[in-house]
This record gives sequence, C-alpha cells and structure tokens, in this order.
Amino acid sequence: VRVIDSAEGVRAWCAAYRSAGLSVGFVPTLGALHDGHFSLVRQARRECDRVVVSVYLNPTQFDAAADLEKYPSTPEQDLEGCRREGVDLVYLGRRAELLPGGFQSCVEVTELTRPLCGAVRPGHFRGVTTVVAQLFHLVAPHRAYFGLKDFQQAAVIARMAGDLKLQTEIRRLPTVREPDGLAMSSRNERLGPLERKAAPAIHRALEAARRRILAGEDLVSGAVAFLRERLGEEPLLRVEYAEVLDGALAPFASGRLRPAARGILIAVAAYCGSTRLIDNAWIAPEEVGQP
Ligand code: AMP
Repeated sequence: VRVIDSAEGVRAWCAAYRSAGLSVGFVPTLGALHDGHFSLVRQARRECDRVVVSVYLNPTQFDAAADLEKYPSTPEQDLEGCRREGVDLVYLGRRAELLPGGFQSCVEVTELTRPLCGAVRPGHFRGVTTVVAQLFHLVAPHRAYFGLKDFQQAAVIARMAGDLKLQTEIRRLPTVREPDGLAMSSRNERLGPLERKAAPAIHRALEAARRRILAGEDLVSGAVAFLRERLGEEPLLRVEYAEVLDGALAPFASGRLRPAARGILIAVAAYCGSTRLIDNAWIAPEEVGQP
C-alpha cells in the first residue's frame, strides 16, 4: 500500500491510474477503521482496478469541539488494515492543506440536510460535502463508496454528485453490524462495558418498528410512538431523534405511511452515555404493501 499525505501526490497518482486506463474506487473515512469501512473497500476492490482510501478527521463536520477531541484515532491499525485488504493508495489528509488559513469556500446541499442529523448538528453536512467535494477533485474516482448506516449522508453526497455533474458514481452499501446487532462505528470504542451492552437496543427498537409497520401499522405517529417506547426501555439511551420519513427524507404529509412509493426510513440518533450513535432501518417500496 502506498501512503501519501500531500494533495498533489494523490492527484498525480490518481491521474496516473486513469491515464493507464485503470478504474479508481474511492472510500473516504475519518479513520479508526473497522469492518464497516472494510466492507466498502472490498466492494471497491470487486468493482475497480485501483482502490483509494482517505483518512482525514475533518474538523468542519464536527459541531462540538469535545466530540472531535474524543474521536478515536488508530493510524497504525488503519494502515495495517488497508494493507491487509489490498488498498492501493491511502491518502492521509492534512488540515494545513485541506483547511489552510483563509479557507472560505463551501459546498452545501440544502433541502436534504434539513431533517434528522442536519437539524441537530448545524453545519455538519456542509463540512462533509465541502471536504468530500475537495477529495473528489483530488482523486476523481470512477466510483465512491458510502455506508447506509449514514443514510442521510449518502443521500446528500449522491445529490451533490448529481447536482454538480461530478463524474463519480455513488455506491451505497448495507450497514455492517456486530453479532448482537449494534452497527459498527468508530465511536463504539468509546462505550463503557454497560453502555456497550445497552447500545444494541437501538437496532432492536428499529427492527421492532420495522416489523410493526410491515404488520400493518399505517400511522406515522403510531410507528414513532412505538419506536420511542421501545427505545425508552433501555435506561442508558437518551434519544436525540426518532423519526419515520420517506426514502427522500421527506415527511409523510398525510400522517399515513401508505402509499410509500419512495420507501420508508426509520432513523434514530441516541446518546449512550456521552457517545452519540446513529442507526436506521429501511423498508423498500415493494415491501410496504398497499393502503
Ligand atoms: P466514517 O469514517 O464514520 O466517516 O465512515 C466512512 C464511511 O464508512 C461512510 O461512508 C460510512 O457510512 C461508512 N460506514 C461507517 N460505519 C459503517 C458500517 N457499520 N457499515 C457500513 N458502512 C459504514
């Protein structure tokens, strides 16, 4: 694996891949890599000739300084994992280059960033889209890989890529989970033992809500109340949001879930102790059934 920490170096290597006729797959990350990240790498390997991973703890997507400070960093393990998984190029982003003094530009997706995480983390998605746009310019990947654990983020990036006519196909892949159902996340490392035992309750509540909707629950308010009740059974969780939206992240204006031509997204953000976790469950349009 080649490790590069200069923007110019990454640009040059990726340009060389492309001019040799090789397709480039790109996996942007914040580091502290786990199997969720590596599932994206493996898919990229299957679909592309060269795989590029970026590791950059992007400060502008953190709305709280304390959260950024506490974010785990495991650089040696990250490189070891990338080597093991056959990554061709790792770009270690440096703040001095990606966010130098005087930096004052941004890329912003508007409507899709209003609900869910956008509502509770002001500026978060602007930070994400700005840095991903920078990285896309440097790497110019044929395909870029994102996890559906961050459903809204993947939707926002796909919108940005479409709106700005970027030449990158956005690929979205399923959430990788621990055996007890907890969605893998770099933040899980910060959970204490009791919190770690409590955290899978998020996935269980989401799955219970999903089953309830599939069994016929048609009221948004009924589904949300049920979801909140299940989350409330775990005393170590403090719910930040628990919502049911359509697949385009719009509310069901009628208050009813059917018809659901764009599918149904059940989304939760909750603090487990001081660690913020997000997860979601998805019901595809063809699964929903008729009103
Ligand atoms: P992050 O380093 O948390 O910004 O994540 C980098 C990429 O990995 C994003 O596209 C995430 O959605 C994805 N990712 C994180 N956790 C998981 C997971 N458990 N399963 C699948 N993808 C994930």
